Amino acid sequence: MSKGVFETMRTYGGNVYMLDAHLQRLERSAILIGMKLPESMTTMRQRVVEGVRSRHGDYSLKIRVIATAENVAVEITLLEITPNISQGVSATFVNLEREPPQEAKQWPYTQCQQAHQRAVDRGFFDALLVDRSGIVREGAYSNIFWVNHGRIYTTGEHILQGITRQVVCEQVPVVLGQITAKKLLQCDEVFITKTTTGVTGLVAIDGKTIGKGKVGPVTAKLMEYLHALE
Ligand code: PLP
Repeated sequence: MSKGVFETMRTYGGNVYMLDAHLQRLERSAILIGMKLPESMTTMRQRVVEGVRSRHGDYSLKIRVIATAENVAVEITLLEITPNISQGVSATFVNLEREPPQEAKQWPYTQCQQAHQRAVDRGFFDALLVDRSGIVREGAYSNIFWVNHGRIYTTGEHILQGITRQVVCEQVPVVLGQITAKKLLQCDEVFITKTTTGVTGLVAIDGKTIGKGKVGPVTAKLMEYLHALE
């Protein structure tokens, strides 16, 4: 499979959410891996918008754009979300540092896909990637936030700069920080963000309860913000 870059987007209310931000990240990812995109941003934008328009209906769609140096594929499918995730989900720690450049969404996404699949096969929602210093950087398919004494934190370095992470950082004050796997277990709240599922509370990690074992108030408020777009 030739190397490339990709984006996963979704619709809210029939429109692609943060379409331009996704296409800009696609362009940035291509620059980071030294690849020239074979189509202009305008063409890719048009293909996504027209593809979504042709699938009219009131259901949510998932859009994946995969670009190699030769070709851009736009795949549009129904967005399928695991039921009941608004009640909170559990995750598992995995020792993994993504290959640089970590800021790029590279295709194939082998390391993350494998870590995520291993987690899902064991009944977890996502894998939390822990680097060699014991720092939790992000999820295999998500960014991580934690809440202590009402203050919200997230990681800022060696991560994929998530679009949903950015949305959250624009809604509420967020402090950039680092946290070890051990300390994460002691936080009041932990939540993850990703395009398809928005904000999701983590209520347990590797069988250990986080906070009160249910979605906390800070997480719930941020979840509401994205649900309101549906
Ligand atoms: N971090 C990694 C490693 C990811 O693969 C993803 C999404 O796939 C995210 C974070 C979340 O990014 P976004 O909010 O743009 O979906």
